[in-house]
Amino acid sequence: MAVVISVPAEVRAGENRVALVPDIVKKLTGAGNTVQVQAGAGEGAGYSNDDYVAAGATIAANDNLLSNADIVLSVNPLTAEQLQKLRDNSILIGYQNPWSETSRFQLLLTKGVSAFSMELVPRISRAQAMDALSSQASIAGYKAVLMAASLSGKFFPMLTTAAGTVRPSKVLIIGAGVAGLQAIATARRLGAMVEAYDVRTAVKEQVESLGAKFVDVGIKAEGSGGYARELTEEEKQQQQAILARHVAAADVVICTAAVPGRASPKIITTDMVNAMKGGAVIVDLAAEGGGNCELTRTGETITHQRIVIHGPVNVPATVPNHASELYAKNLYNLLDLIIRDGKLQVDLEDQIIRDSLITHAGDIVNAAVRERLQASGN
Ligand code: NAD
Repeated sequence: MAVVISVPAEVRAGENRVALVPDIVKKLTGAGNTVQVQAGAGEGAGYSNDDYVAAGATIAANDNLLSNADIVLSVNPLTAEQLQKLRDNSILIGYQNPWSETSRFQLLLTKGVSAFSMELVPRISRAQAMDALSSQASIAGYKAVLMAASLSGKFFPMLTTAAGTVRPSKVLIIGAGVAGLQAIATARRLGAMVEAYDVRTAVKEQVESLGAKFVDVGIKAEGSGGYARELTEEEKQQQQAILARHVAAADVVICTAAVPGRASPKIITTDMVNAMKGGAVIVDLAAEGGGNCELTRTGETITHQRIVIHGPVNVPATVPNHASELYAKNLYNLLDLIIRDGKLQVDLEDQIIRDSLITHAGDIVNAAVRERLQASGN
């Protein structure tokens, strides 16, 4: 029996991505799987129903395709109504928001669903091709620079014109992880002078190799799994004192600093914004987690004393074609571990499977999620 894979249309407002693109559907159907796509699912990313049919998929008029699927692939977490439709013991793969609205997990447990969370794919080399956080962060970093350039009243590059020479914009990137490094590269391509700061001093070399200057505030905050740890109060003050000078000199600040599972660290205070130049721009990619700037309003663009502060949400969805292409490849590579010789297998001995599974056969599998739920009494 062929494995049945279903792709519902995303229901989140403003979501233009889709979990599978036709090229990946073709690979899956070519390998003997059945793929069902909800009508219009690829529309926002530039794919018609006909494109999916040409790749071997069937089109379903509504999300009833959830109830007969062995595997459901999504970008965003399914709604409670969609979760109800899942077949008992089926597999769900997508973003699951593992640290919030955890009451959803109860339904997954009751139904025996194996729910894989793309946020929890471990940061180990074998899993790099499945790492959706990285593929989507890279897109967000690129787009943040374009957003900043269009909000700024200045050129990014130095320009020598008959009317005089224009100095290049100074861009400060806060957080040099995947999004930050892509933001550095993009701002450099546009000709800006770029500085970057991260609490993980290990990234200094990467920052410099992209042609940016590393701002050293003398704090080391390497945490586990390649992530940063939270700073102590004392460290935060030390960080702010040094960063304040660099923020004041910047034409554009792009914030990308995050600590997984926690609210975004507040790095740019109101006082620091008050000291910025008129017309300066802050693009806060951490807005969804509350923002790295104290004044950021999630999903809004505000002007505070002539400084523009942009707090976009779901930035990858604004580059939906390539974002979907990369996300679909991430899913395809993860599916390679789950569909073996045309049969489903969930091998809990495999670290990638064990870490990225939230629920399986009525149990919470990911250790950190289990601890968090136990601590909150759920
Ligand atoms: P992230 O989105 O969690 O954070 C973004 C950046 O913000 C990180 O570089 C972090 O150090 C920084 N940050 C956090 N708190 C800060 C603070 N108070 N001040 C300044 N900066 C702060 O991280 P990410 O980009 O998803 O990944 C972080 C790193 O993990 C990557 O750069 C990479 O080295 C590693 N990684 C490894 C793999 C792998 O081996 N498979 C895959 C992806 C990422």
